[in-house]
Amino acid sequence: MSDAVPHRGSRGLVEAVRPGSLAEELGIAPGELVLEAAGRPVRDVVDYQFLLADEVVPLTLDGPAGPRTIVVKKHPDEDLGLEFADAAWDDTRLCNNKCPFCFLKGLPRGMRRTLYVKDDDYRLSFLHGNFVTLTNLSDDDWARLEEQRLGPLNVSVHATEPALRRRILGNPSAPEIVPQLRRLGDLGIYTNTQLVISPGINDGAHLDRSIEDLAALYPYVQSISVVPVGASERLEGMPSGEGFLIECEPEYAREIIRQVRPYQRRFRRDHGRTLLYLADEYYLAAGAGVPAAGHYDGFAQYENGIGMTRKLLLDWQAAKRRLARRPLVASGRHVTLACGTLADPALKRLAAEASVLTGARIDVHAVPNYFFGERINVSGLLPGQEFQRELAGRELGEFLVLPRSSLDYFGRHFLDDMRPVELEQALGRPIGFAYMMSEVLDFIAEEPAPPAENTATNGRAWSA
Ligand code: SF4
Repeated sequence: MSDAVPHRGSRGLVEAVRPGSLAEELGIAPGELVLEAAGRPVRDVVDYQFLLADEVVPLTLDGPAGPRTIVVKKHPDEDLGLEFADAAWDDTRLCNNKCPFCFLKGLPRGMRRTLYVKDDDYRLSFLHGNFVTLTNLSDDDWARLEEQRLGPLNVSVHATEPALRRRILGNPSAPEIVPQLRRLGDLGIYTNTQLVISPGINDGAHLDRSIEDLAALYPYVQSISVVPVGASERLEGMPSGEGFLIECEPEYAREIIRQVRPYQRRFRRDHGRTLLYLADEYYLAAGAGVPAAGHYDGFAQYENGIGMTRKLLLDWQAAKRRLARRPLVASGRHVTLACGTLADPALKRLAAEASVLTGARIDVHAVPNYFFGERINVSGLLPGQEFQRELAGRELGEFLVLPRSSLDYFGRHFLDDMRPVELEQALGRPIGFAYMMSEVLDFIAEEPAPPAENTATNGRAWSA
C-alpha cells in the first residue's frame, strides 16, 4: 500500500454490497473504504471501474480491523458488486464559468444540497451524463482522459465562435471548444453536444456557424442538440442576465424549426442520421407534431429532453397493443398524474384514452412552477414543495404518479431536497414515479412502485 492515499470521511466508502455478488463472496462489507486497486490509489468510481477491469487485481480496503489487501480474481467484464455513496471521492471538479442564465444564481436556501455545488466534472459526465463545458481541464485531466478513454462525454457548447462562447459562459479564458472536441475525438472519446439558445444572442447566423462547425467534427461529435434557455423569472433583474432570459414564443420556435430542417435533411443524406436534434419544447411551443422515432437515431440525448414526447407516444402505442391482447379492467379505480405545464396537454390525451380502455378514472394535474416562475414549464424542474402546494387538499384518488424526471439522478430527492416519502406523508397517499404511461398501467394493475434508484457507479463495467 502506498502512502499517497488521500481517503477521509466517506471517500471510497462502500455503501452497499450487492447480494450474491463477488464482493459478498470475498467478505467485503458496507462501511469499509476502498483505498487502492492494482497498487494505485483509487480516486473515484471511475478509477475503481478502470482498475478493476483486469482478471486478477489486488484490492486494498480499510475497515474496523485496519487496512487489508485481498486478491480479486474475476472475468474482466464482471462487476464486483460494490455500491458507493459518492462517485467522485477526491472532490468534484467545480465550474469556473459565470453563465448569465445559470440556475444556481437564483436558488434560495433549502434546495437539494448538491444543487449548490456548481460542478463541471467530466467524470460525472462519463458516469451520469452531466453536461460539462471542458473549461476547467488540467494537464492531469487530459492525461487521465487519454489513459482511461472516458467517453462518451456530454458537452455544453452554446456557440463555437470563441468570443461569443466566452461571453455566454462569462469566462474570458474559456479555451476554444472546436480544437478541444477534436482532441477528444483523436483520443477516441466521442461527444454529444448541446447548444443552449438565448434568443438574439447565439441564434441566427451564430447558430448556423455552430451547427456547421460541430457537424464538421462528425463522427467525433455524435449528436448536436438545440435547447431553449431556461428563462427563470428568478434571474430577472440580475444585470448579468439581461438579454439572455427571453422566453421561447411560438413564432420563435417555428423559426428555429425552419432554420434547422435543411441541416437535418442534409445530415441524413450525408451521414444516414439526423445528427442535429431540437428539444421537444420547440415543437410543443410551436404547436407542431414531434418527429417520428427514426428521426432521433436511438435517442442519444433523451435525458436532455430530446425526443421524450416521441418516446412517450411510442410507449403508449405499445401499451395499447398489449391492452388489446390482455385487457386491464380497472373500473372504479381512481388515480392522479401530475406533471409540468408543458407535458400536460399530451399527457391528458393519453390519460383520457387510458381511462376509456381500462375503465379507471385517470386524472392529470398540471403543476405551475411558481418557484422558478411559470415560464419554467418542464416536469424535471418542479420542486417537491410545488407538488405539495398544488395537490394538497385535492381529490387525488388512490395514489399519485409523478414524473421520474422530477427526482435527482439517484431517485432520492426532489430539487428542494424533499424526499418522496415526505411528499407521500404530506399528501396522505402513495406516490409512484414513472417516465411512461405503460408504467402507470402497471401501477394500476399492481401498486405504485418507489422510484428506481440509480447507483453511483451507474452499474457500468469498463469498456475501453
Ligand atoms: S456552466 Fe454555466 S450554467 Fe453550468 S454551472 Fe457553470 S455557470 Fe452555471
